[in-house]
Amino acid sequence: MTTEPYLLTPGPLTTSLRTRQSMLRDWGSWDVDFNNITARVRERLLQIVCGTGTHECVPMQGSGTFSVEAAIGTLVPRSGHVLVPQNGAYCQRIARICRVLGRRLTTIDYADNTQVAAGDIERALTSEPSITHVALVHCETSAGILNPLHEIAQVVARHGRGLIVDAMSSFGALEIDARTTPFDAVVAASGKCLEGPPGMGFVIVRHAALERSEGNCHSLAMDLYDQWVYMQKTTQWRYTPPTHVVAAFDSAIAQYLEEGGRAARGARYAQNCRTLIDGMAKLGLRSFLPAAIQAPIIVTFYAPDNPRYAFKSFYDAVKAHGYVLYPGKLTSVETFRVGCMGQLGERGIAGAVEAVGKVLAEMRAAA
Ligand SMILES: *Cc1c(COP(=O)(O)O)cnc(C)c1O
Repeated sequence: MTTEPYLLTPGPLTTSLRTRQSMLRDWGSWDVDFNNITARVRERLLQIVCGTGTHECVPMQGSGTFSVEAAIGTLVPRSGHVLVPQNGAYCQRIARICRVLGRRLTTIDYADNTQVAAGDIERALTSEPSITHVALVHCETSAGILNPLHEIAQVVARHGRGLIVDAMSSFGALEIDARTTPFDAVVAASGKCLEGPPGMGFVIVRHAALERSEGNCHSLAMDLYDQWVYMQKTTQWRYTPPTHVVAAFDSAIAQYLEEGGRAARGARYAQNCRTLIDGMAKLGLRSFLPAAIQAPIIVTFYAPDNPRYAFKSFYDAVKAHGYVLYPGKLTSVETFRVGCMGQLGERGIAGAVEAVGKVLAEMRAAA
C-alpha cells in the first residue's frame, strides 16, 4: 500500500505503478528503440482524435502551456488576428500569450459560470473580417466548464478561419473527432486525462496548416514547424527529449487502450464526477456549476459554510486522510476544486468524499 496521498488535481495526477515503473531506465535520444517509442506515441495520439492521414502530431518539451504557446506562435502568422472567447483563467492565459507574442487580439468575455456561445463567435467573425483564428479552451479547468467545441468548430470552418483548441484537460476523455469537428490544431499534454507524468505536450495539427506555417514563429525552441520537419527527417526530437516522460507516456497510452480507450476513460471520469457531486451534496457541499455545463474532469465546490474554514487548514486535514485537493480559481467566491482524473485506488473517489466528511466533522466538533 502506498503512503503517498492521491492527487485530486487536474495534473500532475496520480499515475499507475506500471507507468511509474516505466521510468526506471535511461534512453539515448538518438537510439532507434527510443525513437520507435516516440513514433508510436505520435501515431496513437493521432488515432485518439481520428486524425490519421489528415493531421500531424508534433510533440513539444515542457508543460502544457509551452505547447499552447508553440501552437499560437507557429500557426498564427505575425499579421494574424486571434479571437479568444474567455470564461476562465486558461482562456485568459491564451490572450496573454497573444499579447506577449504581439499577435492582434480580440476577446469575448463571459462570467466564470457561463459557456462560450457559438452565436457570439459567429457575430464576431462576421463583424471582424480581419480575424484569422479562434482560440478556444475545450474544458475550462478553472471552474470545470465544458465549452461547445463541435458547434464552434462548425461556425469557424464555415467562415473559413482557423481554430486552435486548448484541449489540455479533455483530450482522451471527451470526444474530439477530426473527421467531423474541423480544427487547425488541438493541444494537450502528457499529464492530464491520458494519465502520464507531466513534462511534454503535443499539438495535433492539420497537415495543410502546418505546411504553410514555416517562418511564422517568434522563437527558435517553440517552433512547431521546425520540430516537425526535423522529426520527419531524423525520427528524433530536435532538442533533448524528456526521455523518461516519453517512455512513461507510452506506457500510460498502452494502459489507456487496454482500459477501452476514450469511451472507457470518459465513462470512468463521468462516474467519478457523479459520485463526487452526489457524495459532497450529502455532506452539504454544493458544486458551483449547473450540471448541464459541468465537464466530468474537475468540480468546483463552494467552501464549507463554517466560520472556522480556511482552505489551507482544510487542505492539510484532507491530505492527512490521504487526498490532495486543489484550490479554487474564482475571484468572486470562496471555492475549492476536486479532480475526477487519475488512478484513485481501490476506494476511488468515494474514499475522497469520506475523507472530506471526516474533516468536516472534525471542524464542527472543534467549533
Ligand atoms: C493544465 C492546463 C493547461 C496547461 O497548464 P500547464 O501548467 O502549463 O501544464 C492549459 N490549459 C488547460 C485548460 C489546462 O487544464
